[in-house]
Amino acid sequence: LAADKKEKVEGSFDVDLPGAEIGKVCTRFPPEPSGYLHIGHAKAALLNQYFAQKYQGRLIIRFDDTNPSKEKDEYIESILLDLETLGVKGDAITYTSDYFPQLMEMAEKLIQEDKAYVDDTDREQMQKERGDRIESKCRNQSVAENMALWKEMVDGTERGKQCCVRGKLDMSSDNATLRDPVYYRCNPAPHHRVGTKYKVYPTYDFACPYVDSIEGVTHALRSSEYHDRNEQYYRVLKDMQVRPVHIWDFSRLNFVYTLLSKRKLQWFVDTGRVEGWDDPRFPTVQGIKRRGLTVEALKQFILSQGASKNLNLMEWDKLWTINKKLIDPICPRHTAVFTDGKVILNLSNGPDEPFVRVIARHKKFDGAGKKATTFTKRVWLDQVDGAAVSEGEEVTLMDWGNAIIHKVEKDENGVVVGLSGALHLEGSVKSTKLKLTWLPETDELLPLTLVDLDYLITKKKLEEDDDFVSVLNPNTRSETLALGDSNLRNVKRGEILQLERKGYYICETPLIRSTRPIVLISIPDGRQRPP
Ligand code: ATP
Ligand code: MG
Ligand code: MG
Repeated sequence: LAADKKEKVEGSFDVDLPGAEIGKVCTRFPPEPSGYLHIGHAKAALLNQYFAQKYQGRLIIRFDDTNPSKEKDEYIESILLDLETLGVKGDAITYTSDYFPQLMEMAEKLIQEDKAYVDDTDREQMQKERGDRIESKCRNQSVAENMALWKEMVDGTERGKQCCVRGKLDMSSDNATLRDPVYYRCNPAPHHRVGTKYKVYPTYDFACPYVDSIEGVTHALRSSEYHDRNEQYYRVLKDMQVRPVHIWDFSRLNFVYTLLSKRKLQWFVDTGRVEGWDDPRFPTVQGIKRRGLTVEALKQFILSQGASKNLNLMEWDKLWTINKKLIDPICPRHTAVFTDGKVILNLSNGPDEPFVRVIARHKKFDGAGKKATTFTKRVWLDQVDGAAVSEGEEVTLMDWGNAIIHKVEKDENGVVVGLSGALHLEGSVKSTKLKLTWLPETDELLPLTLVDLDYLITKKKLEEDDDFVSVLNPNTRSETLALGDSNLRNVKRGEILQLERKGYYICETPLIRSTRPIVLISIPDGRQRPP
């Protein structure tokens, strides 16, 4: 029975939030506008939306903009686009910076009530003292002294800049997050929304519980790496004497060979190693979309992980397998032959004049539309296929019928240089072992560049203190030239298709001029390591 129950929770994501009532739940997704959203953020956003909908409640999108040194307006725009891409729509969009006046009042109130104090211990010393559970020399200053220093901080004076505000929580606690966390710091950098009005900014530990409470959030969902901070969060709310909020932890999403940190991704952007935040090698929402992952697959994947709190490292294959199941039933089929080594098969009884037949782009899905296939006496085959057939063998030419191969010509190195045979259309396609992809020999074929992408790093699981720059993958992109059927001329950027017997691709660059190749990016299908 226990196993059954677990199965249900993980499989169907039938999970309840503590104390949740229909119509009264409010969740929030609080990105910091310091980069584009990645797949980990997508998990947080989708879960918050899932619970808001499940309880017919509200979802707040809150830009957590408390650190002017890292944040930009540009990122607000891009995050809004990312959320739109994910189909996440908040009932309200708010900014932590909207609450700066109230947050300052609250900081002052806590100082007045002796629940917070101003500390000028330097950072390094403070960190050491915190580790050793040693109280700061400032901890027992009078309220008047603290207020005077707070005023210096607010004014951004030289003296003020040496100080920060700390909560007077519990220096002897076994939970290090309770050892007098920092609430406010000076920062002279201008803020992207409020300009130079403030010289002091609240920390996440201080602002987040306050704004959650004030905005009416009932359930704050946080990834599990914050778990130790839950006690601190509740304590801060209590000291502030504001409405309590439930915290619900979910597991942080990690993927093999993948960096999920805005700071690290920013490095790739800044050093020109990727084309931008939407590079198809990036685990960003825009990157994976450009790589051919559907939002539906992402949603299914995330909800299938359910409420499991295990900090596990995900394989990309799992996600790509879900994606394949979604795209395969609908994506159109096209044909390509690799340029390198392609060989002609001459069909002695083939059509003297080429003829055209209009066939479905997907045999089981009309919505994929139609394509025109040209049939010619001479057809192109891939080198591997040419090398696989033996003389006298009956093979099937896909979407045409059978042919008997009479002769396979090879050069001195064993490379196939030409084949000849004859159509045998009355032969049964069920009886053949080889089903061959072919292209007509016409001047309407289109040049293709097939792109394979690889992980940006070579280490499967990056540890906290690993230097990612030392494990960079030197080759993350490779190109193969091919010829494609003439119907590919209508494929649009972002369109997903299958190249018969080659795999799934997403169009990166459509046809612009017939001399320039169409660029198709290979979509992993979960069967192999993303190539
Ligand atoms: P980064 O380290 O990439 O900058 P962050 O956690 O600092 O990430 P925020 O913008 O503060 O980025 O995060 C917004 C929300 O997304 C938070 O609720 C955070 O818990 C969640 N989140 C971030 N990364 C992941 C992840 N890998 N898996 C699940 N949730 C995540
Ligand atoms: Mg953050
Ligand atoms: Mg982080």
